[in-house]
Amino acid sequence: MRFILLNPGPVSLSEGVRRAATRVDLCHREPEYFEVQDQVIEGLLDVYGCDSGQWAAVLTGGSGTSALEAMMTSLLPAEAHVLVAENGVYGERLSRIAAVYGIRSQALRAQWGEPINLDALDAQLATGEFTHVAAVHHETTTGRLNPVAEIAAACSKHGVSLLLDAVSSFGAEAIPFEEPSLMAMAATANKCLHGIPGLAMVLCRREALQQEIEPRGLSLHLPGWAEHQARQSTPFTPAVNAVLALAQALAELRQQGGWRARRARYMELAARVADTCRELGIAEWIPAGESSCVLRSYHLPVDLGYDELHDGLKQQGFIIYAGQGDLASKLFRISTMGEISDRDMARLEQALKTVIAG
Ligand SMILES: *Cc1c(COP(=O)(O)O)cnc(C)c1O
Repeated sequence: MRFILLNPGPVSLSEGVRRAATRVDLCHREPEYFEVQDQVIEGLLDVYGCDSGQWAAVLTGGSGTSALEAMMTSLLPAEAHVLVAENGVYGERLSRIAAVYGIRSQALRAQWGEPINLDALDAQLATGEFTHVAAVHHETTTGRLNPVAEIAAACSKHGVSLLLDAVSSFGAEAIPFEEPSLMAMAATANKCLHGIPGLAMVLCRREALQQEIEPRGLSLHLPGWAEHQARQSTPFTPAVNAVLALAQALAELRQQGGWRARRARYMELAARVADTCRELGIAEWIPAGESSCVLRSYHLPVDLGYDELHDGLKQQGFIIYAGQGDLASKLFRISTMGEISDRDMARLEQALKTVIAG
């Protein structure tokens, strides 16, 4: 059975990307591979028009979390003190990474789903105690889009650097690369970029890679990967097939009009799902204007448990996603990333009506 994935990554692939992943068998020490690696690095910088003199795109292998881990462990000096903005699972994960590596951090905590308190952020930064802020752009726990432009502006005002989890926003939401405070952002191939899983990446300012920081690990050490990638090399075996797929996915993103066009498409699909749910008496968890274009969360229907809803939709070929932690009994999530046609959407609308209204 063909499934349409409405979970927040991995996504349903286009035929072109699916084919590209297994197009050819490549040795990662041959020029044919490095040609594709170079294309992907250039393509990643191109998504938001980043100047390659100032910015580097560094590829590593792994999940989105490994991109976050690579970013934090490679770019935070020993004396860093990080303020972590938390309002969901992924903000808390940033704090967890800091704790695991003994990086000094403090949380600026909001309830899951609540907005980040920007006044409190400003006040904390005004104390002069913090060297860095770590924040999540799109908090996939609830679909809330955190105000990254305002967060970056507060960091710039206080001379603090920002490390951004853009795992579920890179390729589909505005990212303030022009803000001097934005030092680095982490992403993955299998969310808004529509590639296959296995490839994690960090876009960072070149000067961030040149800091003299004692490596905290080997395989996630970004300066090592970057140094090799700059001279058509690789320190370890890369996710070759994921790189092949991402080259094609980036070409398709370009052909489709870039991140702004992708955002518009996601917005349209999210609105269609929300309209259908509203007709069925199901309210959104976060107001539409504060949600990302990527994912929305909805109150579970009173007379239908998550498992019934999930299984009913799965029978019709759609995979939705549960809430995390305490939210598991309260909400469900629908992401409209990935290759989803208008026909798929019409079928989804019908499936929601059948499963929910019975
Ligand atoms: C998906 C996601 C991650 C990474 O998750 P992995 O399971 O490690 O790929 C990190 N942050 C956000 C905001 C995400 O949506």
